[in-house]
Amino acid sequence: MSDIIRFDVIDEHGPQTVRGTYAFSSAELDRDEVADIGPAEVEARVEAGDAPAEYLVDGTLKFTADYNCSRCLEPYPIAQSSTFHVRFRPRPEASQEDEEIEITAAEELDVEFYTAREIPLRDLALEQIQLTIPMKPLCDESCLGLCTHCGANKNRDKCSCEESIVDDRWGALHEIRNQLAKKRDV
Ligand SMILES: [Zn+2]
Ligand SMILES: [Zn+2]
Repeated sequence: MSDIIRFDVIDEHGPQTVRGTYAFSSAELDRDEVADIGPAEVEARVEAGDAPAEYLVDGTLKFTADYNCSRCLEPYPIAQSSTFHVRFRPRPEASQEDEEIEITAAEELDVEFYTAREIPLRDLALEQIQLTIPMKPLCDESCLGLCTHCGANKNRDKCSCEESIVDDRWGALHEIRNQLAKKRDV
C-alpha cells in the first residue's frame, strides 16, 4: 500500500486510497500546546475533481496526544478522531495577479495549491494535525486555573490566598472603625 498521493496515477486508474501511520516529533510540530504526541493514523481517498487538474481528498485522522492546558498549564490526554477534506488545485501561473490568488484562497479554505503532482501522505497528515490543535487548549471547560497569588493549581489544591485577602479587608474595616471611635472620643 503506497503512502504517496500520485495525481498521474489517479488520471490513469481513477480514485486512489492511501494510508499510513506516522510518528511526529514535538520539534516538527513546533507547538507549545503539545506536550507529547503518539503515532498518527491517516487514511485518504483521492479522486479527480470537477475543475481541470483539481483533486479532492477525503480523509480520516486519528492520534492521541497530551496537550498543555492554557489555564492550569497541566498536560492532559486527548484522543483525536476526525475527518478532513482538501481540494488540490494547480498553483496558478506566476504571470497572474497575486491578488487574485489570495482572494480565491480566502474564499475556499480547503483549497491547497500544488506544484508537484506527488504528495507524500505524511506531509498532508502533519498539516491536518496542525489544524486540529486548538490555540488555547483546556483540560476542562470549567478548569479553575492557577491562583494568581501563590500559583497553586486551583483544581487540585485549595490555597488560602482568597481567605487572607478577605481577612485583610476585614482588617482594614476594623482600622477605620477604630479611627472613627477615636474621633468620637475626642
Ligand atoms: Zn486546566
Ligand atoms: Zn493561592
